[in-house]
Amino acid sequence: MSTTERPRILVVGGGYVGLYAARRILKKMRYAEATVTVVDPRSYMTYQPFLPEAAAGSISPRHVVVPLRRVVRGAEVLTGRVTTIDQDRKVATVAPLVGEAYELPFDYLVIAMGAVSRTFPIPGLAEQGIGMKGVEEAIGLRNHVLEQLDKADSTTDEDVRRKALTFVFVGGGFAGAETVGEVEDMARDAAKYYTNVKREDMRFVLVDVADKILPEVGPELGKWGKEHLEGRGIEVYLKTGMDSCVDGHVVLNNGLEVDSNTLVWTAGVKPNPALARFGLPLGPRGHVDAAPTLQVTGTDYVWAAGDNAQVPDLAARKAGVENAWCPPNAQHALRQAKVLGDNVISGMRGFPQKEYSHANKGAVAGLGLHKGVAMIVMGKMKIKVKGRLAWYMHRGYHGLAVPTWNRKIRVFADWTLAMFLKREVVSLGAMETPREEFYEAAKPAPAPAAAAVKSEGEKAKAS
Ligand SMILES: Cc1cc2nc3c(=O)[nH]c(=O)nc-3n(C[C@H](O)[C@H](O)[C@H](O)COP(=O)(O)OP(=O)(O)OC[C@H]3O[C@@H](n4cnc5c(N)ncnc54)[C@H](O)[C@@H]3O)c2cc1C
Repeated sequence: MSTTERPRILVVGGGYVGLYAARRILKKMRYAEATVTVVDPRSYMTYQPFLPEAAAGSISPRHVVVPLRRVVRGAEVLTGRVTTIDQDRKVATVAPLVGEAYELPFDYLVIAMGAVSRTFPIPGLAEQGIGMKGVEEAIGLRNHVLEQLDKADSTTDEDVRRKALTFVFVGGGFAGAETVGEVEDMARDAAKYYTNVKREDMRFVLVDVADKILPEVGPELGKWGKEHLEGRGIEVYLKTGMDSCVDGHVVLNNGLEVDSNTLVWTAGVKPNPALARFGLPLGPRGHVDAAPTLQVTGTDYVWAAGDNAQVPDLAARKAGVENAWCPPNAQHALRQAKVLGDNVISGMRGFPQKEYSHANKGAVAGLGLHKGVAMIVMGKMKIKVKGRLAWYMHRGYHGLAVPTWNRKIRVFADWTLAMFLKREVVSLGAMETPREEFYEAAKPAPAPAAAAVKSEGEKAKAS
């Protein structure tokens, strides 16, 4: 961490908002006008809309992340977690990857910590569930699913096999519907390489407490999405919750019980709970309360945007929707970050603040290879597209939206290669414990005396 005479702009979080805001500030800033410091526990920004495709192996996991140090050149990037903020002293406490926590003074503050999975105290959930918020989870899920096929292919125990081939997904929003669509597609495709596993041996279950899936694309496309998934053999249970999942025994509140080694939890998000220690005004659901200028209410040196902020949706309010707030999505996060960056520069120079207003442009979702839904909003018109065309729109939109040309080219290269070479179906589960085999080879042999005593003991036992 550098000490500096210049004012410090501290950006907490290097995700969508943090990355784009820092880039905007660096672009608009005069030479040496301020020090920009970005703190994030990861050294990369994750393009979350690609996580389901990373889990399905359509995109290399490395290509869905963007290295912060490379893309925010000119900023100081610290890998660690901001744990508390003292607003009176304008000092943040940073817990770095290793070593003691330290204090970091700042003059201007950007709160961009995003959201975390929203969970409930359901018995077994913490032990069995896997989320879909980070690339580590996407890689883990892919390895895990393919490992279940390996297990099912090699066992003679019918219960073990059935449990391995049953996959449960809770939450049917963007993240859940896309993940079940992509993973089901990949797993059934992979079945052709297995002697004892057939496509139809697998069971996929999608559960949601709401009465529809994919609310982001509207009721009509949501209904189509549900029927489409059901047409592929995925069981979809709406208005249904999960009561427990202890040891993989999943109990739903509609009476259904299944045994499964795989429980993917995508039942929504909540603002980062660390916000409670930042001394800032919070809304009823834990978001930082921000004005349309993205300034945190009651401050003139703190800005917040993205999934961790409640920002009035001026466009929706203008159209007559009372008390509308910007929904937590990339469309808003990206645009808010740019306005936020400009406002930080204006705030530093004593100029007036701009208000953020953006009318929803629609949404696209992929449900596996060549399948998708898209809703494009053009003024008062909503264009609804489904099937292969919507899938191309999904790919075109996100392929161009992923930050940096480097990543855009790599992602399009992954998709192009996948058209000619077959999808990769190898499970690298051992990657999670890479030192295990070496440890077995290198661990010290037992001392000779101990070995002798043991072998004497073994001899006695044998006789
Ligand atoms: C699977 C999935 C699919 C999605 N698909 C779509 C889609 O198709 N379209 C769409 O519009 N949106 C989509 N979204 C939503 C979109 O990705 C988010 O709205 C967007 O990432 C929000 O940006 P953000 O900057 O607020 O948060 P994030 O991008 O999550 O960034 C938050 C950052 O803060 C960091 N952080 C956390 N705690 C701390 C701390 N204590 N100190 C410092 N840093 C911290 C995190 O490591 C992270 O890098 C999807 C989300 C998911 C999970």
